[in-house]
Amino acid sequence: MKVIDTHVHLFPEDVEKELLNHYVEISGQSLLETPSTLAGLREEYKEYEVLKYGILGTWESTKKFESKNIRLMAESDIYYDRHYFYSYNGWLAKLQREHDDILCFGNVHHDDPEMAGELDKLFGEYRLAGLKMQPCMMLYTRLNDRRLFPAYERAQAMNAPLVLHTGGDPQPGREIYGHPRDVDDIAASFPKLRIIMAHMGAPFFGEAQEVVKKHENVFTDLSFTIDYNEAIKLAKRHKMTQVANISRKDFNALAAALISGFGFERVVYGSDFPYASPRDAVKGLLELDIPDEAKEMILWKNAKEILGI
Ligand SMILES: [Zn+2]
Repeated sequence: MKVIDTHVHLFPEDVEKELLNHYVEISGQSLLETPSTLAGLREEYKEYEVLKYGILGTWESTKKFESKNIRLMAESDIYYDRHYFYSYNGWLAKLQREHDDILCFGNVHHDDPEMAGELDKLFGEYRLAGLKMQPCMMLYTRLNDRRLFPAYERAQAMNAPLVLHTGGDPQPGREIYGHPRDVDDIAASFPKLRIIMAHMGAPFFGEAQEVVKKHENVFTDLSFTIDYNEAIKLAKRHKMTQVANISRKDFNALAAALISGFGFERVVYGSDFPYASPRDAVKGLLELDIPDEAKEMILWKNAKEILGI
């Protein structure tokens, strides 16, 4: 069976363990038994034919800069201390160059005085596939902050897709930074920009659906939200009452209804490895009561088109 996983995180091996341990500490989530490496990722998918992995950057600047908007965050801080001289985007570029089945999505921040230069590099020298914004971790004021528009403008001009984290953050209480409603403004301002709102906007499912229905250029992904065990754990911690205490059967019924509500052609599969299990995520999707044809669209066909593979 073919798969395109549009939502994966990978980090340099020398910081990966410490970084993820810190993530466990701040988020209260546990990690998978599978190693959080490319080899571990491939192992999770050994039963499937993976056409592409979309690796999403979470943090980037070419140099250290101070900003009161930037929260001390595990991924940025640890990475910075160790790798002051080269950027996460640069590492992603190398990863993409070395593996035919990997597409990488880079990252910029509106407080970076050199954002424009980094965008040149991202789409020029690095030839990255697109952009990823994580408003909750990076404390963007909002996703539709006008200072981010030059980045969106560039992505649209390069015909490169934009992945936006929407909804709940690993740390509770940050959802507002990634509210799907803000994507309405971005989608209207950049009608040719293909936008994937991650996590179905959880817990703002209704708002996310409205935005997808309103704009032909907006899609959503299933990352983290289709792995029952991880989704329930997160829902409990975040007190997302719609899903926190439901059985697997009810969870599946809810997931099927949500996906149908978005429209099968507007949903792409993503796992959120290493925070959720790809193996469980694919199984979760396959056991939903939706047509087989829809499962195939979600697993790879839609993503093939949106990512321009
Ligand atoms: Zn993610």
